[in-house]
Amino acid sequence: MTVKITEVADVITLLPENIANQIAAGEVIQRPASAVKELLENAVDAGATEIQLIVNDAGKTLVQVIDNGCGMSETDARMCFERHATSKIKTIEDLFHIRTMGFRGEALASIAAVSQVELKTKRKEDAAGTYIEIENSVVLRQEPVAVPDGTSIAMKNLFFNIPARRNFLKSDAVEMRHIVEEFTRVGLAFPAIRFSLTANHQPLYLLEPGSLKQRMLQLWGNSYQNKLITIKEETDYLNIYGFAGKPETAKRTRGDQYFFVNRRYIKSPYLHHAILSAYQDLIPADSHPLYVLFLEIDPSQIDVNVHPAKQEIKFEDEKIIYAFVQAAVRHALAQFSITPSLDFDLDPAIQQLPAIQQPFTDDKRKEAEAGAIFRTFTQKHQAHFIEKHKMDPSVWKNFYEKPAPAPESASSPSERLEFPSPEIFSVFPLHNTYLIAQTANSFFLIHQQAAHERILYEKMKQAGKQNPIPSQRTLFPATLELSPADAAVMEEIIPELQWLGFLIEPFGNNTYIIQGVPGDITPNPDNSVIEILLEQYKHFNPDIKVSVKEKLIRSLARQHAVKGGTKLSENEMYKLVQDLFRCETPAFAPDGKPAYIEFSKDQLEAMFGR
Ligand code: ADP
Ligand code: MG
Repeated sequence: MTVKITEVADVITLLPENIANQIAAGEVIQRPASAVKELLENAVDAGATEIQLIVNDAGKTLVQVIDNGCGMSETDARMCFERHATSKIKTIEDLFHIRTMGFRGEALASIAAVSQVELKTKRKEDAAGTYIEIENSVVLRQEPVAVPDGTSIAMKNLFFNIPARRNFLKSDAVEMRHIVEEFTRVGLAFPAIRFSLTANHQPLYLLEPGSLKQRMLQLWGNSYQNKLITIKEETDYLNIYGFAGKPETAKRTRGDQYFFVNRRYIKSPYLHHAILSAYQDLIPADSHPLYVLFLEIDPSQIDVNVHPAKQEIKFEDEKIIYAFVQAAVRHALAQFSITPSLDFDLDPAIQQLPAIQQPFTDDKRKEAEAGAIFRTFTQKHQAHFIEKHKMDPSVWKNFYEKPAPAPESASSPSERLEFPSPEIFSVFPLHNTYLIAQTANSFFLIHQQAAHERILYEKMKQAGKQNPIPSQRTLFPATLELSPADAAVMEEIIPELQWLGFLIEPFGNNTYIIQGVPGDITPNPDNSVIEILLEQYKHFNPDIKVSVKEKLIRSLARQHAVKGGTKLSENEMYKLVQDLFRCETPAFAPDGKPAYIEFSKDQLEAMFGR
């Protein structure tokens, strides 16, 4: 047997820098929302007091953050895109005193490796700012530019150079949810900063500077005004403050649970469990209370460097933190049960209303009072018993009951699921204007016109996404005579009308002939459809910058939606509700007004003092 020996060349080569960057970027930038997080945090680190977030197509084509922070020098503007370029740490010791959100110097390098970036930045002390265009880690343009103080970074066409990863992105609805989630987290962590979020040219959020509670109400609505319990405990070792929902706010689906350590949002099933256990016996076993809690701890006691997105954290002693968090929440719950007025910023008049307060039953209260933790905190009316003892952390361990084990491995982050559409059991009409749709644990009060507008709007958007909407030729073309002013408007919108399935031809002298209409949308065409479209187009709120097509689609949806006062058949009602919950954004009409309000059974029972 002969052995054939082939000469084998050396096989190791160094990766070109842009490929190395792309690979490294995979850890930091997984989806548009990752860029949102990094860019918002950079703006916060830059000391901004006002931060605008602008996204198009759920961030797939554009994520832009504009801040009024410190800006960058010309050299720094170029440097910031280099890997490991950071102004936030210089030595390894600094790693143990991190007070900024960023420090790894990877975010901008990663973003520049996987998208097309435009940076505009200017420091207060500089006369001119700097403009830089970079794509695929290569600088295409750099020049001086006149811009306001601060920084604007636009990330365009994420993964334009990595189709495989682009294809991995989820639907716009899902990506948008991730973006809103990141926006919410940063917004909660920094209530003193003004934030806005604009999506596809429509304003979604405007968060005015204020207290944490005001920020929470801005995000989730004033209905939480009287449903939050203040949590605040201070010790030499660590502090905690924030709000937890009263037991009635607990939901089956995990929703609004936010835990921050030194203002950094942290995913910790272990500490979530600590909070849940504080609610023991106050809420159903598989439900989750709302909370927004901030833990403050000496940075040397934690390691945030364990995860590229810094969402996991290692504590020097996790068990102490567990016991502390659990005790603080229990303490607040116990106090609340005895003196409901503790929540100091309640309007006293509102506080008197029986529907607002849902005191614990006496049994529950006695149980809470009997707990060791409650006694510890309130002994001799010392609200901050712990503070009195310069506590050595080791004492803590014996001080509290042994914490129960976490439900799942403490390190596995729990991904949030998409909410399935609710299962509707029955639908009833109300005043021929609203529908009541009942589910197992709640009911939806639906505004039939708003709901129908939403349905038609999404149907047209979907239909017109890639191809023009098919047009049906009309047997008897209609003639439309317009005023010169309206004719000018008509000229402006004819191309989009055609895209939407209206075949319109100019006939001279401000006259137009309608040859075809989108049969699916406008089954019974007459001139009034176009006339109303023109009218609504002209009067569209000019503050809202949306495309011509968007305006037309909204007007069409409004025109063709069933109006209030229209009696619907049983079938029509069911179909409307079903179609609504198949929408990507069922909760709102296209103009942003609510399409439905959900009432939970618990809410009803609370209203009746049950
Ligand atoms: P890190 O935040 O970890 O330092 P980044 O890649 O996010 O790394 O940013 C690199 C550097 O660019 C930052 O350290 C900071 O000096 C500068 N920088 C980034 N964004 C801004 C901004 N919005 N305003 C001012 N400087 C910024
Ligand atoms: Mg950063």
